[in-house]
Amino acid sequence: MAVRVCPLEDIVPNAGVAALVDGEQVAVFRLDDNSVHAVGNQDPFSHANVLSRGIVGDLKGELVVASPVYKQHFSLLTGRCVEDASARIPVYAARVEEGWVVVEPRKQTATTCCYCGVGCGVVVSTHKNGIFSIKGDVAHPANFGRLCTKGAALHLSTDNGARLLHPEVDGKRATWDQALDHAADKFRQIIAAHGPDSVAFYISGQLLTEDYYVFNKIAKGLIGTNNVDTNSRLCMSSAVAGYKQSLGADAPPCAYEDIDSADLILIAGSNTAFAHPIVYRRIEDARAKNPGLKVVVIDPRATVTARAADLHLALKPGTDVALFNAMLHVLRSEGFLKQEFIQKSTEKLSALDSLLDYWTPEKAAEVCDLPVEKIVEAARLFGNAKAALSLYCQGLNQSASGTWKNCALINLHLATGQIGRPGAGPFSLTGQPNAMGGREVGGMANLLSGHRDLGNEEHRKEVAALWGVEAVPSQPGKTAVELFEAVGRGEIKAVWIACTNPAQSMPDANAVRKALERAEFVVVQEAFRDAETCDYADVLLPAASWAEKEGTVTNSERRISRVRAAVAAPGEARADWFIAAEFARRLSAAGEKLFPYQNPEQIFNEHRESTRGRDLDITGLSYGLLERDGPQQWPYPEGAKGGRTRLYADGVFPTPSGRARFVATEYLPPAEEPDAKFPLRLTTGRLRDQWHSMTRTGIVARLFSHSPEPEIVVNEVDLVKHGFSNQDLVRVSSRRGSIVMKVRVSDDMRPGDAFVAMHWGGRFTGGVGTNALTLPAIDPYSKQPELKHAAIRMVPFAARWRGAFSAPATAALQRAAGDWMARFDYATLSLVEGPEILLRLELAAAGEPDAKVLAELENLFGQLPVTGAAAFEQSVCSCFKVGEAQIRAAVAAGATLAGLQKDLKCGTNCGSCVPELRRLVAA
Ligand code: SF4
Repeated sequence: MAVRVCPLEDIVPNAGVAALVDGEQVAVFRLDDNSVHAVGNQDPFSHANVLSRGIVGDLKGELVVASPVYKQHFSLLTGRCVEDASARIPVYAARVEEGWVVVEPRKQTATTCCYCGVGCGVVVSTHKNGIFSIKGDVAHPANFGRLCTKGAALHLSTDNGARLLHPEVDGKRATWDQALDHAADKFRQIIAAHGPDSVAFYISGQLLTEDYYVFNKIAKGLIGTNNVDTNSRLCMSSAVAGYKQSLGADAPPCAYEDIDSADLILIAGSNTAFAHPIVYRRIEDARAKNPGLKVVVIDPRATVTARAADLHLALKPGTDVALFNAMLHVLRSEGFLKQEFIQKSTEKLSALDSLLDYWTPEKAAEVCDLPVEKIVEAARLFGNAKAALSLYCQGLNQSASGTWKNCALINLHLATGQIGRPGAGPFSLTGQPNAMGGREVGGMANLLSGHRDLGNEEHRKEVAALWGVEAVPSQPGKTAVELFEAVGRGEIKAVWIACTNPAQSMPDANAVRKALERAEFVVVQEAFRDAETCDYADVLLPAASWAEKEGTVTNSERRISRVRAAVAAPGEARADWFIAAEFARRLSAAGEKLFPYQNPEQIFNEHRESTRGRDLDITGLSYGLLERDGPQQWPYPEGAKGGRTRLYADGVFPTPSGRARFVATEYLPPAEEPDAKFPLRLTTGRLRDQWHSMTRTGIVARLFSHSPEPEIVVNEVDLVKHGFSNQDLVRVSSRRGSIVMKVRVSDDMRPGDAFVAMHWGGRFTGGVGTNALTLPAIDPYSKQPELKHAAIRMVPFAARWRGAFSAPATAALQRAAGDWMARFDYATLSLVEGPEILLRLELAAAGEPDAKVLAELENLFGQLPVTGAAAFEQSVCSCFKVGEAQIRAAVAAGATLAGLQKDLKCGTNCGSCVPELRRLVAA
């Protein structure tokens, strides 16, 4: 409701006053002409509530207020900072009514962050369908008000210029009716001619549970194919297979609050400080509260997470199973096994006897390239812990033996009874925001709704009955890698891709692109028009995105949160569930009957019923309850007073015997080992400030400042061996493709290992990006591809010409510049923050570049290129743009963490850089 602030006459012309509007401090200004303007009172640079005391005036034609602290100017109309385009203050509607100044409060909507599986709650402030600011939701139990760099910059990622706004058929604008009728006709024809398995759906862990439910039902209930898989296959399927083989169900047993009760946290294959920053901040808090808490990190790289650990085991990439087996050997030989728990709650330990006999610490030390003492120390820390919590992610999952890596780690917990108690258990950190929700509805090629199994006849009957269809097919569908291989062979002729970007994110991306070219019919349902996969679409369907749609998601700790729309979707974009249901209704008469939904709540209620009596029973939940009580963990059956914080407290597991199973896990080396031709081990991973294929984070300049460009990171030994200098251009090749990038030396890396971030695709670098190098080997149980390991080589790249163009960034310029990248051997595209946000295109060519191409680029950027090699200045703190050199200088002068925070402000906003600051202070 509008707030009457004060009589107009109480404000001096060309001056301001501070007022409280719906609990927020607002600076209200009266101008000479008696018009009034209202903006947030807080200066975003000093965080002081002072803007009401600023001077208002005209700056280059823009009405602004100058902060009395650091003197930045802020537009009174848009809130944009004149000196720093990435900073913005909220703007409020203000008017004069009957002599009084009236200010409209901003609309605030609580929803969830759309990036990682931590599932943080966010509060979005909007005005006139524009998103002005974002803050962490203090009431959300995943983050209690905190956000990382990515989440805190969500409001900067809403440029409609980057969005797909209208349906297109064959590259031409179409109406929704035309596009969906065409898609339904083509699917119908292909199914009639070649059968239901000639079509497939490749969907996404970014979809909401309700979206997922509809797609799954279309494939399995309407069309009669199990060819529905998702990018979650690239992320968590080995964790799922590990849980199911060991514990009997796809259910992470722990909760974030276990971090507070643990006295040992074992982090395996996860740079948690970068990939799950809010979880890591909870770990930092727990360590501050409990100095006895030990952290052990198992990671080939000396990441920020690893460097902060009490014990870091920098093992040879891919040798985790050998290490876990040896740790269990030590636990057994030193009497740490909990016999009572083993007798009562587990089975098949004896199947591990010969395996454990073999995996002595000495044997593992050889295979893992680790000191024996460290293996023994890690095992003893685990054995002595009162409560041991393991956190793990893609380092275990993205492997051709990922399931066994998970099972081998779970074996440690079962042998020592470290499960089902506060602070204890194996806890997979989910990569994507709703990988969990997707599995709950059965949205994968081998699953059915409510965690049912496709191979179980009873389960198939139950789902068929729930949906009111004759049967659901029994033949497993094609999983992600298999699906695109089948597209490439022509077996799958039509593929519908929603909310994911396989042309960038799948391993061996060149082969995936060829498959998409070969496909008879490709539908791409997408929010961002520059996602690489859009290039292959026969039909493009504009989808609503973050803050524009309603539904639910489930995070890593089984917590279901409401996702809410804060603004209307731009152009003709529609919610994903709506698009899918519209397609289904056009596909056949049965579709009309099976997809009657008017809103996502109806879909949620149908999904809820499918969970009745299952391990994830949520029959006690409703949109109303989530509205009233906030996010809830499953299971939450009808009649329950709340969700369950942790599972298996009674020592009973969801297996036929009620006992958890030890799994005999053989060590298998990575599918592609280095050899004479490809002597380096490539491992891929995440950057702190980017997300997946960068369709959203790639439009936010602030998120480039920490890692501005693609690079391959190697140890100095390898730099010297190859005769390279830091920042040289090198050609990196695997058996599948190559990419030219800068080389960076770092003592994070073991000799012989190399790291490239997974995010870089064809929009930001030459060729198809990082996944030109990776291979499609898959785990036999989870079918998850081995994105973490490949054999590569580096050779010098001699550039005859190098140069960089830059100009004020727009989505159109970014798109046009991207079109020229393929004409050069080396190309990177970045955004640079400053008074103006600049688009920077850096290029290099082995020969003389085509003069016509250079002329076109000069024309596009409106200036000549700066020629020669160039380097970026990287920020450690993205929020306040504080670089490493500045921090090192301050530390050399005696600054502590608190001193850095006070003097340079780094680490005082989102806090994602605090682990790096600690490392620099300790160096
Ligand atoms: Fe979003 Fe960061 Fe929270 Fe992940 S940790 S949900 S990216 S704010």
